[in-house]
Amino acid sequence: MTKKIGYLCRGCSYQGRQFPQGVCPACGSSQIQRVQDSEAAETTLPRWRLLLLAGLWGYLAYALWDKFSV
Ligand SMILES: [Zn+2]
Repeated sequence: MTKKIGYLCRGCSYQGRQFPQGVCPACGSSQIQRVQDSEAAETTLPRWRLLLLAGLWGYLAYALWDKFSV
C-alpha cells in the first residue's frame, strides 16, 4: 500500500495525487474523496469500537481467570 495518496475515486477506486477539474481521470466521476494516507482511509475505527474491543478482551480474560481460579 502506498502512503499519502491525495485523492481517492469512489466510483472506480482510482488513487492519485491530483484530480484535474475535480473529476476522476480514469472514469470521469466527480465523487472523489480526499485522503491523507492509505491507513487513514482504511483504518477509520471509531474510538468506542476500540474501547468495546478492549472491554470484550477484558471480560474474556476475567471469565477465563474466574473459571480456572475456582
Ligand atoms: Zn474513477
